[in-house]
Amino acid sequence: MTTWFDDDLRTLGEQHLLRRRRQVAPWQAPAELTPHDEALRATTYCVDGQERLSFGSNDYLGLSQHPALMAAAHAAIDRYGVGATASPLVCGHSPEHEALEAELAALVGLPRALYFYAGYAANVGAIPALVGQGDAVFSDALNHACIIDGVRLSRAEAHIVPHGDLAALEAALRSSTARRKLVVTDAVFSMDGNVADVPALLALCERFDALLMIDDAHGFGVLGPQGEGTLAHHGMAGVQGVAPAWQGRLDRLVYMATLGKAAGVAGAFVAGSPQAIEWIMQKARTYMFATAAPAHIAAALRAGVRVIRDEPQRRDHLQALRHQLQAGVGRGLEAGSAWRLMPSDTAIQPLVIGRNDDALAVMAALDAQGIWVPAIRPPTVPAGTARLRISLSAAHTTEQVQRLCEALQAAHGCKAP
Ligand SMILES: *Cc1c(COP(=O)(O)O)cnc(C)c1O
Repeated sequence: MTTWFDDDLRTLGEQHLLRRRRQVAPWQAPAELTPHDEALRATTYCVDGQERLSFGSNDYLGLSQHPALMAAAHAAIDRYGVGATASPLVCGHSPEHEALEAELAALVGLPRALYFYAGYAANVGAIPALVGQGDAVFSDALNHACIIDGVRLSRAEAHIVPHGDLAALEAALRSSTARRKLVVTDAVFSMDGNVADVPALLALCERFDALLMIDDAHGFGVLGPQGEGTLAHHGMAGVQGVAPAWQGRLDRLVYMATLGKAAGVAGAFVAGSPQAIEWIMQKARTYMFATAAPAHIAAALRAGVRVIRDEPQRRDHLQALRHQLQAGVGRGLEAGSAWRLMPSDTAIQPLVIGRNDDALAVMAALDAQGIWVPAIRPPTVPAGTARLRISLSAAHTTEQVQRLCEALQAAHGCKAP
């Protein structure tokens, strides 16, 4: 009966597509953390028993180990216990969740926000709430897997638009006769690090009366003067509210961001007009039929939102590390090198190697030097563009980035055996 499991697992193995989990914990013990130790804990892991300097996490601001977030979670456990006990619409919605939503809405400058227990759940729930049979969705070819799944679940007609191609999007919108139209895109693309042209997308949506949904999983906390994300990066909205040029024009925008990356904890939120958010709350099945995240997660996030808003020095340091890496890698590569650091203003700095086995060989060479950078292969990225996805964190030091640059130089030219 079950032999097909063995057969199909063997096939996966033969295609070098079997994944293996590593057991990861902070290397540094938590006792009496100084700010320096706190940063060490966010970058230096015990991976399967060995010390590794990591450039693999999405902990872009180092908040996963921040004492204020940890203290807020401890205090909330003492007050609320550890479980939310039901979905938010039954009895899982606490005062911490309510306050968090108001604080998130204020940070991004939109009228209302709704918290979800995961980003995956937010996209898979919100997209089918916004469109259904008889409607059309226009989705960028490089969108995250959970947008793709949300589009499929919606049963709306799907148009996959070549990455960042505004002319192709315009043509597709023009030829559509669907009842409702939704354009959906990553705001910062997770494997490339580039930022979507949100003002141009919104202008197109205005012309063709479409909704726009952006997924800011990798921009929230990182971009914008106060970490408000991609809307502030483009001067559209932020802590100050909606910018004058965009007054009255953001009602057709649904903003989504995750809170397990730069915000350091877990979950996600959608934000937008009061009506759109009310509708999503009434209709998203992942909101209605899943147990809420426990209150201490929301409490930790509230502390995280304050750090994001009030500590711009974390973003300044992250930008300095990015320039250091770009200069260091640029110097290390000989002219004609096949390696290419993709242009990115974000914490995601992909180094394209090319062949799958070469990327794995470089990852192994770095690992031998105690540095962990994940290699990303097709189908996650296009064939022939296997890469190291270097992700920087404000918790990294300039010495650590220097170490990475030197290790990359030593590994350069490294080929699969
Ligand atoms: C990580 C990610 C998600 C999923 O968020 P989770 O909170 O991890 O479920 C959604 N969209 C993008 C672009 C992501 O990178």
